[in-house]
Amino acid sequence: MAKKVLIVYAHQSSGSFNAAAKNIAVEVLTAKGCTVEVSDLYAMGFKASATAEDIKGKVMSAENFCYMKETKLAWEQEKLSDDLTKEQSKLTEADLIIFQFPMYWFGVPAILKGWIDRVLTNGFAFSEEKRYSQGIFKDKRAMLSLTTGSLESMFSPTGINGDINVTLWPLQNGILYYCGFQVLAPQIFWAPASAAAEDRKRMLESWSTRLQGLLEEKGQSFIPLDCFDEKAFQLKPDVHKKHASKDFGLTVGIHLNKPLPPHSQRKAGC
Ligand SMILES: Cc1cc2nc3c(=O)[nH]c(=O)nc-3n(C[C@H](O)[C@H](O)[C@H](O)COP(=O)(O)OP(=O)(O)OC[C@H]3O[C@@H](n4cnc5c(N)ncnc54)[C@H](O)[C@@H]3O)c2cc1C
Repeated sequence: MAKKVLIVYAHQSSGSFNAAAKNIAVEVLTAKGCTVEVSDLYAMGFKASATAEDIKGKVMSAENFCYMKETKLAWEQEKLSDDLTKEQSKLTEADLIIFQFPMYWFGVPAILKGWIDRVLTNGFAFSEEKRYSQGIFKDKRAMLSLTTGSLESMFSPTGINGDINVTLWPLQNGILYYCGFQVLAPQIFWAPASAAAEDRKRMLESWSTRLQGLLEEKGQSFIPLDCFDEKAFQLKPDVHKKHASKDFGLTVGIHLNKPLPPHSQRKAGC
């Protein structure tokens, strides 16, 4: 069956390396029979701040405005602003979401963080019952495709920026897996601005090759929700016991005071 792909793209310039990576994704996936939609956030003038303007009509409490509660109700009553409703329906339609962006401050650019804050609303993207392995988007796949200014060696366990797996954890676990997505291994283009032209060409060729088989890739490994108790959300004793003698922790975050599992946020297929 033909797949629908949404690329959430955050770069200001059509001549950028990010634009080239996005264009290749559109080209290859379209040639493979996918329907590809791009949310070009800067071109759209996408609003980054989560405010009461995101709700049509009267809010529940203007004095003590609570974005989480207000947007949940507005989503239930179909009163979210048109820009949010549009992005939410693109996401609902999509089988795979690719986030294409330059790393800003060890994270995503503000405009993309705004998309995450505003589009992934309570009720639509998650609920207390539906998160992590039971998450709302568990039948969809998502991935980060990003460029850095830093060299790969700088983002290693002995490098000045620390282990890239730690940097990726909040984005991949705290946002994507939290909403249930099967999280494909990230595509990282290391320091394209300081790379030689030949190396930049090679980076884009290898992305193009990966895109050919992207739809068959499996998600990375995260800990299923049923490994935690339902009261304090602690690892169940039997899971804890099972890993007691292991050399490495379970994940970057849930590491059991052991060394981090190597490359756990960059491994394809589980
Ligand atoms: C606010 C801010 C915060 C930042 N924080 C971080 C951080 O925390 N960590 C970090 O590592 N970096 C950080 N950076 C750096 C940032 O991540 C890089 O500048 C960015 O990732 C580079 O990607 P780009 O698409 O902008 O590259 P560009 O500068 O657009 O492109 C790089 C090179 O690729 C060339 N190119 C364009 N198209 C093609 C093509 N089709 N084929 C071959 N070459 C092409 C361009 O001409 C250029 O020479 C930050 C930057 C800013 C502005």
